[in-house]
Amino acid sequence: MTSAAPDALDAAAVAGWLRGSSAAIAEQRDYLTQLDAAIGDADHGSNMTRGFAAVEVKLGELDGSTPPGKVLIAAGQTLVSTVGGASGPLWGTALRRAGRALGDSETVEPLQLVAALEAAVAGVVELGAAQPGDKTMVDALQPAVDALRAAVEAGSPVGAAAAAAREAAEEGMRSTVPMLARKGRASYLGERSIGHQDPGATSAALIMAALERAVSPDR
Ligand code: ADP
Ligand code: MG
Repeated sequence: MTSAAPDALDAAAVAGWLRGSSAAIAEQRDYLTQLDAAIGDADHGSNMTRGFAAVEVKLGELDGSTPPGKVLIAAGQTLVSTVGGASGPLWGTALRRAGRALGDSETVEPLQLVAALEAAVAGVVELGAAQPGDKTMVDALQPAVDALRAAVEAGSPVGAAAAAAREAAEEGMRSTVPMLARKGRASYLGERSIGHQDPGATSAALIMAALERAVSPDR
């Protein structure tokens, strides 16, 4: 990390997070699509891969002096305009809200990262009206953000805090298997949605794992 404060993230780290998310999603594209084939319409892998590939193109067009918040807003706008499925507007809103929470700050302190990700989840909940337990990306994201806050407040270095968030996201992702879907396409299946892992919670866990890699000092 090049920032003055050892635990602060700069725009390059944020862009690294988005690029790492894109790579992980592209790598798991078929898996995400298989999960969506079971309880949706088999497009989650292609939706997310297409959207994040467009984000990578957008990142390449941004000025090197673009602050972290503006990087996230540009990424969010790109997702909204390139992904037709539910995940596009939801992740687009999440990243734009996170970016807005950061304002024009040049660096992102750990507590600012927490606030930004809390704003992101609040945006998803506001747009999609899913609560924890409804079998959506919220089941991975909410516990991840809660774990991130708890770790940062306990004084953990940002890498360790992001690791705790990633673990919580993965646990949340697995917790969707026995859930009955109450939001999104999977909810049309009713009881038949039980026994399958939610695709959106799965990609959310990949994105939290990419955050851990992007903020870890030895990346
Ligand atoms: P679509 O359902 O339009 O085909 P995707 O397949 O890309 O879109 O994304 C599906 C994922 O979106 C689901 O697995 C779920 O995690 C998430 N999702 C769907 N509806 C909502 C909602 N109302 N709130 C939060 N997440 C949702
Ligand atoms: Mg789908």
